[in-house]
Amino acid sequence: MADVMDKIVSLCKRRGFIFQGSDIYGGLANTWDYGPYGVELKNNVKRAWWKANVYERDDILGMDASILMHPKVWEASGHVKNFFDLKRDCKSCKKRFKDADLKDKNKCPECAGELTESRPFNLMFETHAGAVSDEASLIYLRPETAQGMFVNFLNILDSRHPKLPFGLAQIGKAFRNEITPGNLTFRTREFEQMEIEYFVRPEDADKKLQEWIELHFEWYLNYGIKKENLRKRPHGPEELAHYARACTDIEYNFPFGWSELEGIANRTDFDLKQHAESSGQDLRYFDDKAKERFYPYIIEPSGGVDRTVLAFLVDAYHEEQVKDDTRVVLALDKGLAPVKAAVLPLLKNRPEIVELARAISKDLKQHMVAVYDDTAAIGKLYRRQDEVGTPFCVTIDVQSLEDNKATVRDRDSMQQERISVDALKEYLLEKLTI
Ligand code: ATP
Repeated sequence: MADVMDKIVSLCKRRGFIFQGSDIYGGLANTWDYGPYGVELKNNVKRAWWKANVYERDDILGMDASILMHPKVWEASGHVKNFFDLKRDCKSCKKRFKDADLKDKNKCPECAGELTESRPFNLMFETHAGAVSDEASLIYLRPETAQGMFVNFLNILDSRHPKLPFGLAQIGKAFRNEITPGNLTFRTREFEQMEIEYFVRPEDADKKLQEWIELHFEWYLNYGIKKENLRKRPHGPEELAHYARACTDIEYNFPFGWSELEGIANRTDFDLKQHAESSGQDLRYFDDKAKERFYPYIIEPSGGVDRTVLAFLVDAYHEEQVKDDTRVVLALDKGLAPVKAAVLPLLKNRPEIVELARAISKDLKQHMVAVYDDTAAIGKLYRRQDEVGTPFCVTIDVQSLEDNKATVRDRDSMQQERISVDALKEYLLEKLTI
């Protein structure tokens, strides 16, 4: 099974989904750059998430907060004190290990050297703001996007006057100085989160937590993740983060084992109370019907963009035997696929065919991500598009010049249909609706 990961890594590099970061310098370990197809896939995942969680609802507002925040935010949130992993260092090879990953707590798993006692290791990246690098200028790169929404709670109440229950949604970068990153983009030190902070009356929190778990579980299935590869895993009390009362992870069955895609937690009123105390601002919600002021509870669905992209890639990847050839297909949901249609002239030495193909591609580009490709024979062009998950190939041949029809080939069934060039755009758009 592990070689599926090797195949994904190789496909990602070969086709331009994901490259090693700083590659020409030998790479910076565990950093990854999204290439031309990767950025499209990632943007489509974010767009699909935003659509389901912001645009299709009346009770969620979008936000985009700064990565750099006042250092007091992280004191109040508990991250300065509590956001650490226990680690041990090898006295011989100097490698660092997460305590929880070690079977034998005394022996280095790499060189069998002696390990140090376990020590807390704060996961927040530190940096300095401004020209002077002293304690007063110390700030952190945010380890979660959530706090940007808590510190804007008052701004949102004052500007938009939402009524409970309501939520804020945000997609953005987060940074954690992970001790053991790995598995391509699964665990990195720089990643993107998609988070919702959903404010509810305290007595509704348990019910809303369950609703969000179900809703987000369905979202992955809607976009094509196979049901048998997705599960919910409630946390035991010893696993809960310092701010959470209850949490359920949505896990995906990666080639390296079941692992978290998203955590959905009941953060109670912990964060708002902490920030109220620390900032001196009244962060209670005022219910003008009941004339009462109180701290709402917060339900937080918190997912990772990069992990979700990786899960979609792994789930979509398959190989099939076609005659004596192996066809590699990324059977991505059509809405998520980086390119929607590839326009391919069957004979590139016939100027009229090339001209028609180029005109069709130009027109389609106004409505979807479409590409024109004439750099190989048709069989090879099809395989190339299958490998990057393009749902439709549009082929122009000699007959197209006579009947003004193109051949549309479906990625999954490989069925071909002749469609009038004038109806092509509508035909494709209808099948592509996200
Ligand atoms: P893990 O247990 O895997 O370290 P976590 O429980 O610490 O994850 P959360 O704090 O719940 O993660 O963060 C919410 C989401 O952010 C995770 O479900 C994951 O999708 C994403 N995420 C967290 N850390 C990383 C990372 N180092 N690299 C990529 N994505 C991450």
